[in-house]
Amino acid sequence: MKIIQDIDTKRLAVKLRPSAEKMVKRGHPWVFKDSIIKQSSEAKAGDLVIVYDTKKNNFLACGLYDPYSPICIKLIQFRKSTPINEAWFISKINDAYTIRKPLLETKTNSYRLIFGENDSLPGFIADTYNHVLVIKLYSHIWFPYLNWIIPHLVTVTGCNAVVLRLSRLLQSKGDTYGLHDGDVIYGTLESEVVIFREHGVLFSANVIKGHKTGYFLDHRHNRKRVGELSKGKSVLDVFSYAGGFSVHALCGGAKKVISLDISKHALQMAKDNAALNTFNGEHAVMVADAFDGLQSLIHKKEQFDIVIIDPPSFAKRESEIIKAKKGYARLARLGAQLVSSNGILVLASCSSRVIADEFFKVSEENLLESGRSFEIVEKTYHDIDHPITFTEGAYLKCGYYKMH
Ligand code: SAH
Repeated sequence: MKIIQDIDTKRLAVKLRPSAEKMVKRGHPWVFKDSIIKQSSEAKAGDLVIVYDTKKNNFLACGLYDPYSPICIKLIQFRKSTPINEAWFISKINDAYTIRKPLLETKTNSYRLIFGENDSLPGFIADTYNHVLVIKLYSHIWFPYLNWIIPHLVTVTGCNAVVLRLSRLLQSKGDTYGLHDGDVIYGTLESEVVIFREHGVLFSANVIKGHKTGYFLDHRHNRKRVGELSKGKSVLDVFSYAGGFSVHALCGGAKKVISLDISKHALQMAKDNAALNTFNGEHAVMVADAFDGLQSLIHKKEQFDIVIIDPPSFAKRESEIIKAKKGYARLARLGAQLVSSNGILVLASCSSRVIADEFFKVSEENLLESGRSFEIVEKTYHDIDHPITFTEGAYLKCGYYKMH
């Protein structure tokens, strides 16, 4: 393993405003800077912060101090105080692995082992692609603990290389202790493009240069479902990125699949991913803005048995929620016009700020407005490697509508 320098941490105590204290008592992992009313000393990234009850003075929770984020304490333990040491991290990693085990009994060797707050490690993501583990850090709090965490991640996953990815914030602010985005910090990486399996279908991820950790694992169960529905069908995959849905549809026996994305590069990845597999259907790509592209397909009177619309997050900020809902409304109306009679429209959202009920409501109201009746076939949320333990952790929702 690459030598990562030892970083000293200290402990400090804080007390919080009543509203924040209430959230902590409910197990919420975020403490905002302006909710601290008492702090025993100055702190630096990764210092251990104990939150005490303002009145009773007993232990409420502990977390790690993050001076570079408005969420300046990221809580990792609630109610009971146990030492935060190597054994604590090992037990958290083991718990996380246990949750994912059923997935590894399928024909899948790609999974999210650590999903930040939801696995007690806020701002820490660990994705496995075959024998390569990609760690993406979104917070400076983790640098002092990497020497404890990484060896156990290696043991649990059996990986032979670990790649470190750093968020933009980490690359622009604060000390990264000689570590850089894209560093191979354990083992040898034979190629930056790693091939892996997702329910029997082959994909590849560029673990050094790709978005996030190289691929979006979160839709795995929806892709499998689309694959199962695709035999003999025509499929339109809108916002296809690297072809997650498209390639499952092709492998499931679709006769024709169009992947539509604004990015040429993403569509090249979709083609490359398709080429890793054997299938008989036809695969075409369409470089276009989704709204324009859908409109032009409608204009040409095209129809598809299955249309999947899985856009990027439309609401990165609170102020964008209304605009996001308008976007979802338009997509539902456009999508409805492209699905053949008794065909399936799959509408997905990954904006955590637009909660599931609101997304489904906006989608369904607009499907009705398109003048077609429909049946709700299924609604799905996160796959098991994305467990959710707090409200803001939930982002993925997906509706399957049979259009009459
Ligand atoms: N469905 C994909 C993930 C989508 S990620 C999967 O299953 O993996 C979002 C994708 O939307 C990216 O590939 C991005 O290039 C594309 N995108 C963003 N804005 C777009 C637009 N206006 N029109 C079409 N594609 C767009």
